[in-house]
Amino acid sequence: MLTNDALRPARIMVVEDEPKLAALLRDYLQVAGHHVDCLDDGLAVVPAVRAAEPELILLDIMLPGMDGLQICRELRTFSEVPIMLITARVEEVDRLLGLDLGADDYICKPFSPREVMARVRAILRRRPAQAPSHLQLDRETYRASFSGTDLDLTPVEFRLLDYLAGSPGRVFSRDQLMNRLYDDRRVVTDRTVDSHVKNLRRKLEQAAPGQELIHSIYGVGYKLELNGL
Ligand code: CA
Repeated sequence: MLTNDALRPARIMVVEDEPKLAALLRDYLQVAGHHVDCLDDGLAVVPAVRAAEPELILLDIMLPGMDGLQICRELRTFSEVPIMLITARVEEVDRLLGLDLGADDYICKPFSPREVMARVRAILRRRPAQAPSHLQLDRETYRASFSGTDLDLTPVEFRLLDYLAGSPGRVFSRDQLMNRLYDDRRVVTDRTVDSHVKNLRRKLEQAAPGQELIHSIYGVGYKLELNGL
C-alpha cells in the first residue's frame, strides 16, 4: 500500500447552520488535508450526498428545512456513508441511540475540535483499502513502476514520487519537498526541485502516455493525482 488509510484525504460534508461552528470544523478538516463541503440547509443534504458521494458526513441535528434525524433516516435508505451526528444536548445521546438511526458516532456541543478530529480519524480508518494502484513503489529497492513499466528513477526522484504519492491530491510547496528530499537545505534551490519534478514527469509520461499525474499549482507547488490509476 502506498498510503496510510487513516491519513488518506477524504471528501467530508459538514452540515451545520451555525456559521462559526461550520467554519471551525471546515478549517480543522482542511488542515488535516480533507476536502470539505459545507451545507447549512437540511433540505439540500440528501441531493448533495447523492451528487457528491462524500466519505463522511458531520450532521447537525437542529437544522432549517429538515432535521438531522430525518436526513439520517433518508440517507440510510440508499447510502452507507459514515455519519457523525452533532447534538446540542449530551442527554439526548441516549435517546438517539434508542432510535437506531444508523449513525456511526455522536458528538455533543460544545465540542473540542481535537476530539472531533480524533473521532473522524477513527471512522476514516475503517474505510476499505484503496484499490491497488497502477503505481508501484518498492522502498527496499527504490524501484518504481507504472502499469508494469519500470520508471528507472534516481533515488531523489524516487523519494519525491514516494512523498507525493503518500497524499494524492495534496499540494506540496517546494519548501516542503526540499525539506523532505534533502538533509542539507543549503545545497538546493527551488530550481533544483523543479528540475527533479521535470525529470520525474518525463519518466511518468513515458510510462503513462497522455496522463498527467504530476500537476503544477502556480505559485504554490506540486501535487500528484492518481484518479483511480
Ligand atoms: Ca443547528
